[in-house]
Amino acid sequence: MQAGLLDTYRKPTLTRGALAWALSAVLSAFYLVLYFTEALTPVARATGLGDKWTLYGFLYTVAMVAGGVYFLRRHGNSRYERIRTIVVVAVQVVLAFALPIVMKVFGAREYYFSYFWPLKIEYLYPSVILSHPFLIVAWSFVGSLVAFPVLAWFLGKRFYCSWVCGCGGLANTAGEPFRHLSDKSEAAWKVEKVSVYLVLAIAVAATVVVWANWAVGSRHPAFASFAFAVQKWYGFAIGAMFAGVLGVGLYPLMGTRVWCRFGCPMAAMLGIIQRFGRFRITVKKDMCIACGNCSTYCEMGIDVRSYAMANQDVRRAACVGCGMCAHLCPRGVLKLENRPVRLKAGQPIRVYAAGP
Ligand code: SF4
Ligand code: SF4
Repeated sequence: MQAGLLDTYRKPTLTRGALAWALSAVLSAFYLVLYFTEALTPVARATGLGDKWTLYGFLYTVAMVAGGVYFLRRHGNSRYERIRTIVVVAVQVVLAFALPIVMKVFGAREYYFSYFWPLKIEYLYPSVILSHPFLIVAWSFVGSLVAFPVLAWFLGKRFYCSWVCGCGGLANTAGEPFRHLSDKSEAAWKVEKVSVYLVLAIAVAATVVVWANWAVGSRHPAFASFAFAVQKWYGFAIGAMFAGVLGVGLYPLMGTRVWCRFGCPMAAMLGIIQRFGRFRITVKKDMCIACGNCSTYCEMGIDVRSYAMANQDVRRAACVGCGMCAHLCPRGVLKLENRPVRLKAGQPIRVYAAGP
């Protein structure tokens, strides 16, 4: 049978069947073992990879390369999807895997140039800033606080979430078969709007606490313990359990963007800017036949069809600009755009009634 859309619904691993639950348990268990035990260290040494984190990086990169090939075989006929997939996989291979290893080999501290605050929260902690060369610190600061907001305004958050970030990269390659499992309900949207901005607020608060502790020095031991506990808690609850164990472990049950949608502080920050910036998905008037492909395959749980049927452009903070709704639309209704919105005199600004 030709690989296509409808065969998705015939595979027990992709329909929340018993096999999907088993796969979810295996993935979650892998992350629990990785984060909280040293069981993978002997495997890393035996394979010449040194430590468990390098082994994990290797496995992650292999999954993305293999998933990228799988994705291109299905969707490589779209120029946007082809270039996007090649770029995000290349970023993972070069910036998130090879370069940190090369740095370690040459005696430098490893650094992941494709990750930025607040996703990689420690990159704006004073301890990390003070232990890295000026150019790396500048890269982090300018990226997080200047370049990313500007790029998100002009291009939407897709420039990072779908073209650079390793979390999105894994979702759009190895995780691709699970994209349709995202929850499209209003209830899920309500939860998303609370949880993702809550994590952003916690990330900002944690960063402020760590900087305040650095500023007061050793004069307040009680505050130092509190700051240490905040860092530790954030690393455990958000970094390990939410982003890792749940983020990937729930692929077979809730789709591939659970972390990006409900937890990623970077997605939240860029999403706020995108909501008021240029990026949107434009809709060709009265062309939608309500087939539902766009909504079904939106990994961020956006009910794109309801916008298309209402002839409303999609301007949603959550959209990561993966482009699959436009690619899979049989009528060519949808188009990802970031041209300036030009309104004619007297033309009302169209805002979808239920939009945030
Ligand atoms: S609305 Fe379209 S481009 Fe945005 S995340 Fe959903 S499928 Fe991707
Ligand atoms: S895929 Fe296209 S035709 Fe189908 S519901 Fe979405 S916008 Fe309408």
